[in-house]
Amino acid sequence: MAKRDFYEVLGLDKSASQDEIKSAYRRLAKKYHPDLCKEENAEEKFKEVQEAYSVLGDETKRKQYDQFGHAAFDGSAGFGGGGAYSGGFSGFGGFDDIFDNIFSGFGGGFSSFGGSTRSRKVRGDDLLRRIRLTFEEAVFGCQKNLDLDVMETCSECHGEGGFDSTTCKTCHGSGTITQEQRTILGSFMTKTTCPDCHGEGKTFKRTCPECHGKGQVKVHKTITVHVPSGVDTGNRLRVPGKGAEGANGGEPGDLYLEFAVQDHSFFKRDGDDLYLEVPISIVDATLGTKIEIPTLNGNIKLTVASGTQNGEQQRIKGKGIYNESTRRTGNLYVIIKVVIPTKLTRNEKKLFEALSNETLESQEMKRFEKFVQENDQ
Ligand SMILES: [Zn+2]
Ligand SMILES: [Zn+2]
Repeated sequence: MAKRDFYEVLGLDKSASQDEIKSAYRRLAKKYHPDLCKEENAEEKFKEVQEAYSVLGDETKRKQYDQFGHAAFDGSAGFGGGGAYSGGFSGFGGFDDIFDNIFSGFGGGFSSFGGSTRSRKVRGDDLLRRIRLTFEEAVFGCQKNLDLDVMETCSECHGEGGFDSTTCKTCHGSGTITQEQRTILGSFMTKTTCPDCHGEGKTFKRTCPECHGKGQVKVHKTITVHVPSGVDTGNRLRVPGKGAEGANGGEPGDLYLEFAVQDHSFFKRDGDDLYLEVPISIVDATLGTKIEIPTLNGNIKLTVASGTQNGEQQRIKGKGIYNESTRRTGNLYVIIKVVIPTKLTRNEKKLFEALSNETLESQEMKRFEKFVQENDQ
């Protein structure tokens, strides 16, 4: 099956702004999230959307894609897929780096291990785990306990992998061996990792029985992860070093937590902004009123002006979601929903009937009436 155009996947055209891309991604990631979507192929579509966003959401990659199409990322054009990962990660620092380019490494593979002369260490795979969050957990942030198998430094050998080390006889401690290669162009020397010590430069008289020489042991552990406030469905959080174990002493991969956030019955989310529909009576909309409405941090008074129309919006600045990773706070948008009564008491009916004798005509209605009359001539 041919790969779909990334713009097509997100339902956008090439001139779309970054905001439009982000918003289309959010909407579609939510729609097709495998934990939330019952549709067939939801998972495939979800992945497709993520892949499209990983490219279009990144200005540099987007330019490459605009110029070369899919070829920019399949390796044939010489752009490394997992380039952002090769440098390794420093630790669980500020939040700025957590969501950075987190999609770029998946599927791209991890190709570089600091050059092939040094060792055959292989970094462990990155793992992905899906986590459901309530609306409140996502909006306010939370601590989540995860049961994991993690690699820890072996306490028996203190991570050495064995006891009574001696300098490797094969490489004399350098970790590499030099071999002469003869070719038709002449002979030259190549450096390769020492096969006996795997580049460590030393061997042990006795291999550690606890970790079988790996220096690390698998431990079942409960770790607590801080989920920053403002995460949304499809967001991923990187937990460094908690992925699959590496091979030959390679560092473990990272664990990614991907969130599926439940909807709230009243607040609707769009990124960090909240939307709240507030039902009011036709009388209050006409005369104006003050009502109490909920926000994330307690109720506030809202003034509804006289003559408020159905669907009118009020922006309440800074009453949206505080996003810990961007350090920005969204807004709360109140949408007034004027409710037309469907059942009237006898007295109410009387009052409405009395009202119907009044003109209550607006400019809009007058103009329309005029058109109706003209139309009949
Ligand atoms: Zn050696
Ligand atoms: Zn050990």
